[in-house]
Amino acid sequence: MVRSQGYLQEEQDVVYRVKTKNLWIYRVRAFDAYPHLKHAIFTRRGGVSLSPFDSLNLSVSVGDNPQTVQKNFASACRAVGVEPEQTVSSHLIHGADVVTINHTNRQKVMDQADALITAELEIHLFMRFGDCTPLLFFDPVRQAVGLAHAGWRGTMKNVAGATIAAMTQRLGCQAENIMAVIGPAIGPCCYEVGLDVIAAADQAFDEPEQFFTQRSNRANHAHFNLGSANQQQLREAGVTHIIQSNLCTACRTDDFFSHRAEKGQTGRFGVVIGIEERAE
Ligand SMILES: [Zn+2]
Repeated sequence: MVRSQGYLQEEQDVVYRVKTKNLWIYRVRAFDAYPHLKHAIFTRRGGVSLSPFDSLNLSVSVGDNPQTVQKNFASACRAVGVEPEQTVSSHLIHGADVVTINHTNRQKVMDQADALITAELEIHLFMRFGDCTPLLFFDPVRQAVGLAHAGWRGTMKNVAGATIAAMTQRLGCQAENIMAVIGPAIGPCCYEVGLDVIAAADQAFDEPEQFFTQRSNRANHAHFNLGSANQQQLREAGVTHIIQSNLCTACRTDDFFSHRAEKGQTGRFGVVIGIEERAE
């Protein structure tokens, strides 16, 4: 195992990096106990895109060659043993709407939604990230999964809480059974924000100052901790099993794309999660 440099060193092993079919991916250690659960947090390594999208860019909306992205997507699916036609994604718009997915949605890009949930097997939820927080959800009791995209706007709208509410109300999950993973995102070390984010946090949280862990040298700026804000929202939604990856995309541009660290000239890495039919 390659030890990664998380911004909180003591918890770095909750996710680990492995090489599979020439791609380096991160896996969630707690998910290893469930062999029918398929998941991966892809790195940027192992694809065919050229700089600045090198190399496993999975987004067609950043200026990369669509055919190259298609090749990357095919090898990403192959690496985790997922059929591309079993995947479902969505247009990310920094909101908090949650869409429930079933078999009729396979191989589709759903309309605008930043959270997808399903309790059907052989559906693999897929999203792309490059600093915003990936939130992965798995309920081993109900056999349901979810995937959400929480940048600062989505976090202020509590997309984490909205996803848990949808899983409990629509899929019959119990919040305390849901395992929630806060994946690689821009960390408080690197995420300097301005007054727009500070003001939005004042509206969204009772005690927003706790999420501004490091003050900035620049006037009217502060460092925002997306991960701990999402963690609090998950706790308030009743989730007790929270796995914080503590990987900062901007510190770790060796493994991840970072919109902030690479000044907008970069790709997006993928996250996939779904449950396989069990061979009895
Ligand atoms: Zn950082």
